[in-house]
Amino acid sequence: MEPWLVAIGGLVALAIALVAVRRGRRTVTRIRTVTGASAAADPVLAVTALRDQADRIAGDLAADRHDHDVLLESLTQGVITIDRDLRIVAANAAAHGFLDRQPGSLIGRTVIEAFLEAQVESIARTALEQGSAVGEVGRTDPATRRLLVRARRSSAGGAWLILEDVSELRRLQQIRAEFIDNLSHELRTPLTTVSLLAETLTREAEAAGDTIPLKMRDRIGKIEVETGHLVQMVSELLDLSRIESGGSIGTVDLLDLGQIANESIERLRLFADRQGVTLRVERHPSLPPVQGDEERIGQVFVNLLHNAVKFSPDGGDVTVIVRTDAGRVVTSIADHGVGIPRAAQARIFERFYKVDRARVRGETGGTGLGLAIARHIIEQHGGTIWVESTEGAGSTFSFALPTASG
Ligand code: ADP
Repeated sequence: MEPWLVAIGGLVALAIALVAVRRGRRTVTRIRTVTGASAAADPVLAVTALRDQADRIAGDLAADRHDHDVLLESLTQGVITIDRDLRIVAANAAAHGFLDRQPGSLIGRTVIEAFLEAQVESIARTALEQGSAVGEVGRTDPATRRLLVRARRSSAGGAWLILEDVSELRRLQQIRAEFIDNLSHELRTPLTTVSLLAETLTREAEAAGDTIPLKMRDRIGKIEVETGHLVQMVSELLDLSRIESGGSIGTVDLLDLGQIANESIERLRLFADRQGVTLRVERHPSLPPVQGDEERIGQVFVNLLHNAVKFSPDGGDVTVIVRTDAGRVVTSIADHGVGIPRAAQARIFERFYKVDRARVRGETGGTGLGLAIARHIIEQHGGTIWVESTEGAGSTFSFALPTASG
């Protein structure tokens, strides 16, 4: 072979060897970086350390997975994992129990096959699109299970469905509503009679003048006022239990909330005048209609307006604002009255809750049921109700209802 050819071959071999050495160094440096080994450490040892570390991580992951599975299996709530095609990829024992399925038999089924309820499919779809959704499925009769389904999008692209058995809770709620309904019915007739008698007695006592001692006339007057409150409480209790047990709303019409606001104000005009309170309405010029029961929505307006006037000072004013906001019609009723302490704001929508009897001018106050009734009606219409208030400065009660088109 030519000597110049031998020289070129030698040079190429040298270049390849140099590249290999540089690559080797780079690999060793990378291993050192990953393992945190010092420059002086043996690369073989570093690789072994790296492998040990990987084994440890794999062991930790397996232990975590096992804990996670044990935890899921011991939950009394049903947990189902679905993929983006609404197919079940995992489900715990409680979920199988709730749906009366053999252990493991839910895997691979679609949501509709598992639940046989289109509503659950729509809850799952909403969660996949919007992040979360909630709903209740099943019939209310005692033989059927009633499930609360909460759905949440998972980071893996599917969603979790959390199932809670609310059959017993709903059964007890129904018993309570029926009990209150029966009791109020039984009480209403005799109480109305007592109230009418007390009213007549007051009139007769006034007509009799000084022949009846002042103290006695005073007592008769108090009996009349208190029986009046009892009659009001019983009829509100009846209202509440009917609204609660009714489930969904009755007559559904297209409603103009601006018009209902004006009519409600007229209904309360006399009461407001007596209290020296001015009422006014501000309405958005082109309000879309909402779907609902006119009488019930009117009752919400009256309950909120009645409170606003009752808790306003003499000379105060109450404003009703009806406007549109993101596919909803929002009504706000603002007063500049006593306001509600922050701690009480979360509780005032509970039945019978009253902040403080002493705060109302000139009367012993209401029943504590008006806001509970309002909340039920609004929620039955698919809306929400809330309060913003500063103690001593006033309160604004608002409710939002979806527009008929939206
Ligand atoms: P009530 O018949 O006692 O008015 P509600 O359920 O309507 O019952 O109201 C519950 C409680 O919430 C009231 O007793 C009162 O303490 C408080 N509240 C309601 N509306 C107002 C308001 N506009 N300003 C101040 N407090 C209010």
